[in-house]
Amino acid sequence: MSEKIPYKIYLSENEMPKAWYNLRAHMKNKPAPLLNPSTYQPMTAGELSGVFCDELVRQELDNDTPYFDIPTEIRDFYKMYRPSPLVRAYCLEQKLQTPAKIYYKFEGNNTSGSHKLNSAVAQAYYAKRQGLKGVTTETGAGQWGTALSMACSYLGLDCKVYMVKCSYEQKPFRREVMKVYGADVTPSPSESTQVGRKILAQYPGTGGSLGCAISEAVEVATATPGYRYVLGSVLNQVMLHQSIIGLEAKTALDKYGVKPDVIIGCAGGGSNLGGLIAPFMGEKLRGEADYRFIAVEPASCPSLTRGQYRYDFCDTGMVCPLSKMYTLGSGFIPSADHAGGLRFHGMSSVLSQLYADGLMEAVAVKQTDVFQAAEDFARIEGILPAPESSHAILAAVNEAMRCKETGEEKTILFGLTGTGYFDLFAYEKFHRGEMTNYIPTEEEIAAALAKLPVIA
Ligand SMILES: *Cc1c(COP(=O)(O)O)cnc(C)c1O
Repeated sequence: MSEKIPYKIYLSENEMPKAWYNLRAHMKNKPAPLLNPSTYQPMTAGELSGVFCDELVRQELDNDTPYFDIPTEIRDFYKMYRPSPLVRAYCLEQKLQTPAKIYYKFEGNNTSGSHKLNSAVAQAYYAKRQGLKGVTTETGAGQWGTALSMACSYLGLDCKVYMVKCSYEQKPFRREVMKVYGADVTPSPSESTQVGRKILAQYPGTGGSLGCAISEAVEVATATPGYRYVLGSVLNQVMLHQSIIGLEAKTALDKYGVKPDVIIGCAGGGSNLGGLIAPFMGEKLRGEADYRFIAVEPASCPSLTRGQYRYDFCDTGMVCPLSKMYTLGSGFIPSADHAGGLRFHGMSSVLSQLYADGLMEAVAVKQTDVFQAAEDFARIEGILPAPESSHAILAAVNEAMRCKETGEEKTILFGLTGTGYFDLFAYEKFHRGEMTNYIPTEEEIAAALAKLPVIA
């Protein structure tokens, strides 16, 4: 059987999923609702519609409908770069001399270089259909901003991006790609918003954070007629759109009768991991099959492994709704030495609930190990991986090496979320031996957690 499996399993356009899968429909314990930041009551559709466009609010709040049709216009856009290949990592297996069978779903085959385009085009499409003029967002390293700029230029929407200032300065390439696609890119914190001015007054010279950029983007969206805010991770709607990753992977594996034992993904806000595992987790929840799921996070930003499952703000400015999630506290900022992405202080509420229910595992890994795994992978499998994706590579390799010890022929599936061409400053730091592994102390984590809001 295994001889017949090609290096790359491609699906035809017709085999691309026609609907996204909403895992929440099959969860017994639903993720907790978003709360209004001033009243601490569940956010209503009416309240959310000031921030997000209407169809996305509907998707965000729907815990019951298992499938959402993918509109033809979005499917047509997807066809430019999807279905994405599922790769059998024969070269890696051979190099590791492992009996494990390794597959990865590669999402880096588009100009933005990551899976984020899957949700960017969906969010831009619904904003356009509602007759809006534009959208605002934040971006850290720039993958989300790049993906959104591509989607907005395709659909004819304005796109205002608040980019974390240190990335704006240190990562000029993604900034310029966003400009190629017509986006308006502002370094955050900026003088253009109330919250930006407040943070600048409090922390002059700060390089910014994702949480702060979110606050600025939300302020501009709610204060500008015809604009809404869009977010590239964490939210239920994003995980819904990213389910296309898992649905395609499952269709491809089913074609060859392959059933993975372990499914691994890197976890920042949880969207790629949530999307990859969705159809498999659905089977597990319905009692149809069993799988192990592993979330991989950086040891320098360990929300699942060292955070608390509590309501918290998604942003530093505390203007966004509260989400119940594994969190390190909205004031937590990873050490300046951290270069591997996945810097968000919290986690998707869906993944948080699954983790709390013992349905998913989590591991935290050190960034020098991650970059070593990235470089090995580039040399063996040919693809230059994004540092974020390399967290999953490392965990998959570790799993395959355990199989080597035990002789188990496990099938491992992991998500290769993107390429690392724009992360070469981080690779440079690694090559020069200047990369360190700062791991937050118990005291630092306790101090950030002590500031969590107390909800009655
Ligand atoms: C943004 C990003 C991630 C992390 O985001 P999730 O929402 O956790 O998926 C991982 N890999 C790449 C390449 C990214 O751009």
